[in-house]
Amino acid sequence: MNSMNSNSPMPAVGIDLGTTYSVVSALDEQGIPRSLPNAEGELLTPSAVLFEGEQVIVGREALKAMGGDAIHVADCPKRYLGRRVYPRALAGMEYPPEVLQAWILNKLRLDSAQRLGKFRQVVITVPAYFDEVRRKATQDAGYMAGFDVLDIINEPTAAAVAFGFQQGYLSESGEARKAQNLMVYDLGGGTFDVTVMRIEGSEFKTLATDGDVHLGGRDWDQRMVDFVAEEFLRRYTKDLRDDPNSAARVWRECEEAKRTLSTRGKATVACDHEGDWVRTEITREQFESMTQDLLDRTSLTCQEALRAAGMDWGDLDRVLLVGGSTRMPQVRKMLADLSGREPDHGISPDEAVAHGAAIRTGVLQSQFEGRPPKMKIQSVNSHSLGVVGRDRRTDRRRTAVLIPRNTPLPTSTKRLFRTHTENQRSILVQIIEGENPNPDYCSPVGKCSVPALPKGLKAGSPIQVEFDYAENGRLKVQVTVPGTEIRLAHELRRENSLGQEQLDQFRREISGFPPPVIPLSS
Ligand code: ADP
Ligand code: MG
Repeated sequence: MNSMNSNSPMPAVGIDLGTTYSVVSALDEQGIPRSLPNAEGELLTPSAVLFEGEQVIVGREALKAMGGDAIHVADCPKRYLGRRVYPRALAGMEYPPEVLQAWILNKLRLDSAQRLGKFRQVVITVPAYFDEVRRKATQDAGYMAGFDVLDIINEPTAAAVAFGFQQGYLSESGEARKAQNLMVYDLGGGTFDVTVMRIEGSEFKTLATDGDVHLGGRDWDQRMVDFVAEEFLRRYTKDLRDDPNSAARVWRECEEAKRTLSTRGKATVACDHEGDWVRTEITREQFESMTQDLLDRTSLTCQEALRAAGMDWGDLDRVLLVGGSTRMPQVRKMLADLSGREPDHGISPDEAVAHGAAIRTGVLQSQFEGRPPKMKIQSVNSHSLGVVGRDRRTDRRRTAVLIPRNTPLPTSTKRLFRTHTENQRSILVQIIEGENPNPDYCSPVGKCSVPALPKGLKAGSPIQVEFDYAENGRLKVQVTVPGTEIRLAHELRRENSLGQEQLDQFRREISGFPPPVIPLSS
């Protein structure tokens, strides 16, 4: 039996905090991951938050409210992580996206506690393609929701872990099984992720990852909304997209029609707006042709990931489908054509990620108890990490890459910076992520300032900055003066990130928990 934490002292959950739906899983007594239904009895909780007076409502009710009360609903806050605030004010308040994520996590925590009793520990998944800033925001959301975040793991890795578990790779006898190359193709509601991995015994090694944080089922929906809205416009010379409530109602109709088209040849969409209405029929063929370019974007990204892994379609043993949107027949067909094999149907596209996260909680807990690790996960960084440098010849700002993308994690790198002037007392390092040689087109991680350099340094004195990229994609910075034991204090001021005080305040407001005695590290 695949028992991993049969005598685990404390319950813990794995959460797939999805853009459109979230899922919670925990290990049962036999150590098998099971999804936990929410208070409404459903396994999938819509990732939507409704602000109604003093009340904050998460899930199905919030999603329903979009048809009449769209301006009070935060829908898909995950899409906006990394920004300072959610693009719209909600009930007159501007909220950072991670605070909205925290409300969602808090509901999941409370609902799970009904089944598991009190617990704090969680592993949360993130798209492999998430950058450092978004990972940090996710970790902060867990904190504000009253959780003790054990780890942040990549969604495709979690799906592969669930697959490996199901195939018996994690059992005693699984060590000897033949290695497999997998592609995890995850098309959800708002994001697309593709990862090439290798499973060898209990080792899960990521070879390359790529994706698009702004491509998902929602974009497919929008194509149908536009199609229907154009028809309405022709007939009544009114654009229903101008009214958020009408637009939200039509979107719900279209989303449902899209699901119908996954199993049937045609579907109808009824839309009403200001007392007029039309009924439109859409065939699967029409829908596929109006979304072909979206599908093509995913196949190009798959090719890129394969190339980065040094592979061809023929080198893959399996293609795992993850995410609700992989139910669209066009996705399966495209992947079957490209890989020459039917994609795998063995794992649940909705639950695999949460299951993998739950398995991870068991592995970590047994490791904390001093038992040898049962599973090894090796990830890569999904974006190049660098600093803003200056070109010596042209004096133009340029990106100096320190850790190129797809480097196996953990990794660290050192870089020497030189002081400009005699007795310079501080330096400032701007940290960025991205591939573009022009730093303006990369995304800022933050600024690291070293405020108290030793007195009397000559101009041009070296200061060493070390970047440690942890396994979970989180960054740590250390500053030293080479040749001495001096470790310099520094402050990593993150771009669009909440400070500890704000985090503690939101934690109290959302979860009712005071900050723990030992504050979490940044
Ligand atoms: P995320 O991880 O981004 O939250 P999910 O994996 O839960 O997303 O997938 C949600 C998306 O899957 C939504 O866009 C939804 O419309 C789509 N979806 C779910 N079921 C089907 C189906 N039968 N056919 C087509 N799309 C579907
Ligand atoms: Mg997902």
